[in-house]
Amino acid sequence: LSDKLSGIFDKLTRRGALSEADVNEALREIRRALLEADVALDVVRSFTDKVRDRAIGAGVIKSVTPGQMVVKIVNDVLIETLGQDAEPIDLVAAPPLAIMMVGLQGAGKTTTTAKIAKRLKERHGKRTLMASLDVKRPAAQEQLAVLGRQVEVDTLPIVPGQTPVQIAKRAMEAARLQGYDVVLLDTAGRTHIDEPLMAEMAEIKTFSKPHEILLVADALTGQDAVNLAQNFDERVGLTGIVLTRMDGDGRGGAALSMRYVTGKPIKLIGVGEKMDALDEFSPTRIANRILGMGDIVALVEKAAQAIDAEQARKAAERMAKGKFDLQDLCDQLAQVEKIGGLGGIMGLLPGVAKMKDQIAASGFDDKMVRRQRAIILSMTPKERRNPDLMKASRKKRIAAGSGVKVEEVNKLLKQHRQMADLMKSFGAGKRGGGMMGKAA
Ligand code: GDP
Ligand code: MG
Repeated sequence: LSDKLSGIFDKLTRRGALSEADVNEALREIRRALLEADVALDVVRSFTDKVRDRAIGAGVIKSVTPGQMVVKIVNDVLIETLGQDAEPIDLVAAPPLAIMMVGLQGAGKTTTTAKIAKRLKERHGKRTLMASLDVKRPAAQEQLAVLGRQVEVDTLPIVPGQTPVQIAKRAMEAARLQGYDVVLLDTAGRTHIDEPLMAEMAEIKTFSKPHEILLVADALTGQDAVNLAQNFDERVGLTGIVLTRMDGDGRGGAALSMRYVTGKPIKLIGVGEKMDALDEFSPTRIANRILGMGDIVALVEKAAQAIDAEQARKAAERMAKGKFDLQDLCDQLAQVEKIGGLGGIMGLLPGVAKMKDQIAASGFDDKMVRRQRAIILSMTPKERRNPDLMKASRKKRIAAGSGVKVEEVNKLLKQHRQMADLMKSFGAGKRGGGMMGKAA
């Protein structure tokens, strides 16, 4: 009976792959969503190409439509692109550590400077000195002083007539003498990018040697986001981005555009005018906001979880019977990748972490996991179920299909044989009263 059941599961879980037509149709919808979210045109194009490569041929999970499956893949690629983990401001450097805030006029530099100072004080216990290098806009320096009093963080005393570079030097000097941990340099902006602005930023950078250079950009920047981020990154060199006005009704496409072209992390987001309206960046939340398809993603995730549970049960059943073919191995390798590779497993199991060196010495790493999966995926379903079929000609075909040498295929087969033998010896001991077999 259980053989019959697993046959049914087989059919249900391997419901075929996404065709090019499926993918293209779904991507039309996705392209519209990205453009509506104000993602820059070039980025939309190259992003959807990336998704197409990933999606065509990918399996469709039971109980979801091909279109929903593509949405899930888009969401995954989006989160990957936006950066999997939150990247906080890097505070590891000898004090006084300088953080330079750059961006266009009105982007929110001065406000964000004060917000960050408040956060550094409250969450990290850092003594911060803020300095406004904006000598162009009337009362810009006073604006920062007012905010400084509000959040109870010191600002550099104003000396009229100084250049931005002179102010920056004075701020670093004062911080050294008075033992500040961090110096926040709030620079001037212009309504658009021009050469004098870039030259001024580069000069300030030379003299203050900032540990972080954060581009402060309005989330509603839309199509200009790419130019803005690219220019600042090329001329001044960014370490991160702060997106402001994420409390507005923009859909945050600038986040994707900027991250895509510069590769620099979005470190924080501004979510209001108040001094504590500053949040950590969450790729998942932004992906949801850009696509606006969170419920589809949740649906597919739920379906995938159900299938994982089914597969795990099926695998346990098979192992209890001493069966372990190449498809089983492939499923297990996929599972390893899914939970973040070997590093992910080690993180989950403290005992395994101790074996790190041994595992490294055995040559078994994430690259190998991927390669071994690629080899198995180049086999026909029949070959996966019957490793004994493997003759020289088949091995050659598989090696070519997965871009490895034939020795590599042999190595995998040998490794699998050892594992299968091991499983068999477990299975033999349990025959007649296998707990796992009955539990299902
Ligand atoms: P700067 O010219 O780059 O220094 O910009 P400012 O810091 O002076 O900010 C310009 C305006 O944007 C001010 O009225 C701020 O209160 C407002 N602002 C800054 N950040 C945010 C934010 O995250 N959300 C909202 N709603 N307003 C913001
Ligand atoms: Mg300002």
